[in-house]
Amino acid sequence: MMPDLDAIVADIIATMAQAEERGAVAAYIPELAKVDPAQFGIAIVTADGRMITGGDADTGFSIQSISKVFALTLALGKVGDQLWERVGREPSGNAFNSITQLEHEQGIPRNPFINAGAIVVTDVNLGGHQPRVAIGEMLRFLHYLCEDDSIAINEAVAASETATGFRNAALANYMRAFDNVRHPVDLVLGSYFHQCAIEMSCRQLALAGRFLMLDGRHPGGGRVVSPRRARRINALMLTCGHYDASGDFAFRVGIPGKSGVGGGILAIVPGSASIAVWSPGLNASGNSQIGTQALEELARHTGWSVFSPP
Ligand code: GLN
Repeated sequence: MMPDLDAIVADIIATMAQAEERGAVAAYIPELAKVDPAQFGIAIVTADGRMITGGDADTGFSIQSISKVFALTLALGKVGDQLWERVGREPSGNAFNSITQLEHEQGIPRNPFINAGAIVVTDVNLGGHQPRVAIGEMLRFLHYLCEDDSIAINEAVAASETATGFRNAALANYMRAFDNVRHPVDLVLGSYFHQCAIEMSCRQLALAGRFLMLDGRHPGGGRVVSPRRARRINALMLTCGHYDASGDFAFRVGIPGKSGVGGGILAIVPGSASIAVWSPGLNASGNSQIGTQALEELARHTGWSVFSPP
C-alpha cells in the first residue's frame, strides 16, 4: 500500500523546523557560506509520476557533488566499463577531498563519488574538447532528464571555487603525474568546478533521479541507461555516496543516496521513489545534517529500504 506521502511530508517539515542542531554551511567555498542555513526543502517523485513537495522545494541550490552521479552516467555512456581501469568501486573510508589513498593506489581513486574520482570522470567527459563543450553536454543531459531547460550554472559559485579550490588542484595534479588525468589540469578543474556549480531545486533534482528509480528508463519514453547500469549506479550511491559516512547513511536511511556540500541529497528507492532533500547546514562528514535526518524520518514512516521487501 502506498504510504500517505502528503501527511508524511507535512510531518517531516514540522519536525525539521524544530530541529536545533542544523550543522554548519560549507565555508571553504566562500560563495556557499552566504546561504541561509534555516532553509529546508523536500521533493518526492513516485514511480507512478506523483510529485509531493514541502518547504523550500523550489529554491535553487548548488548541487555540488550530486553532479558526480550525472557525470558518472555520461562517462559510462562514453567509455563503458573501461572507466573502471581508471577509477575504483570501493568506499574510501576517507573524507570527500582526501589525497592520502592516491599515493598508495598509484593515482587510481577509490570511487567516482569522491573528489579525486570525479576529477578523473571529468577528464573522461572532456574527451579532447574545451570545458564549455563538456559543460554544455552536462546541462543538456539534465534538461533532458528533468524535461526542464531552465537548469543553469551559478557562475558566482563556479568563480568562488575556482579561486579557492587548491585542494582539488592538488588532487588533479597528483593524478596527472600518474597519467590518470590526461587533459591540462586547468581545463579539467574548470569543467569540474562548473559542473559542481550547477544550481537546481529539490523538485528538479528529484525529476533528474527518476531514471535511477525506473531501472534506467526515462518516464517520458526510451532509456537513459540499461537496467544493469542503473543498478550499478545505485549500488555506488549506497556504498560511496556519503564519503566516510556512507555506512552510517545505509544504516540510518537504507537507500542509495548522494550528497553535496551545498546541502542537497538525492536518494533513490528503486521502483518506488526519487527523492531530493536540501538544507545547507552540514555535519562533520560534509553531508546535510537536516537532510539526512529528514530522509531517516521518511524511510521510517514509509518503510522504504533496499534491505526489505517492497
Ligand atoms: N565542489 C566541491 C569540492 O570539490 C564538491 C564537494 C562536495 O560536494 N562534497 O570540494
